[in-house]
Amino acid sequence: MEKWPIGVFASVDAGLGVHFDVVQELGIPTIQLHAPHQDTRTEQTAKDFLGRCSDAGIVITAVFGGFEGESYADIPTTVRTVGLVPEETRAARVQEMKEISDFAAQLGCTTVALHIGFVPEDRNGDSYQGLLAVTRELLDHVAGNGQCLNLETGQETADHLLEFIADVERDNLFINFDPANMILYGTGDPIEALKKVGKYVRSVHCKDGTWAAPEKRGKEWGAEVPLGEGDVGMETYLRTLKDLGYDGPLTIEREIAHDRERQKADIGAAVNLLTELRERIG
Ligand code: MG
Repeated sequence: MEKWPIGVFASVDAGLGVHFDVVQELGIPTIQLHAPHQDTRTEQTAKDFLGRCSDAGIVITAVFGGFEGESYADIPTTVRTVGLVPEETRAARVQEMKEISDFAAQLGCTTVALHIGFVPEDRNGDSYQGLLAVTRELLDHVAGNGQCLNLETGQETADHLLEFIADVERDNLFINFDPANMILYGTGDPIEALKKVGKYVRSVHCKDGTWAAPEKRGKEWGAEVPLGEGDVGMETYLRTLKDLGYDGPLTIEREIAHDRERQKADIGAAVNLLTELRERIG
């Protein structure tokens, strides 16, 4: 693969990502795939989808897990509902994430990814220790499929994410860096965070956002905006990735699935911006 191939977050069926025909129409060569719902997550679905990708010359670079009952409505709801952190759903979701890893293997994909949830701050607490245990169990399953697991960033600070990765003590745990999330969740300057966690970054999102007002940071969302219009600073972001030696895909994420026309237009503009920046500094 060329350095910094453009990518986009896509869905097999109706989901958070863009539809496959949009990926084709925009000529985007790589995708991260949002795992389809349990009912359609079959070997046949994998085979059919992989066929469509091969025909279109599209490479699947990661499969993202997500779960029924997750809601990003506001930050407190996200804390309560997302990932493997909530204890009531933890066991079932770990099982489902293993199945998503198996589905990714059927797609020939060696990277799975997820929002693990807000990693508890107390490293000696039961919730943190329980999360460590299931993360190890999941990583061992993922390793059995020859895969690594990339954690999406933003729900904790870069320092705490580094502590968690060190505490897990597995060699197939990495990071999917999302600079906008650091801003949206109010967890730190994205460029400083990227420099800190750089050695673990194996995939990235190209997404932009603006900070919430200082007194609201971490309590209320910042705003997700079209790439290049927010506070990340795309040129600095790419230069930092270059300094870190990152040459993997630049996967565009635009989380406005409720407005498909605008999503497509914004992604088209993001492709142009990244293509121009890549030519200049890649
Ligand atoms: Mg993201």
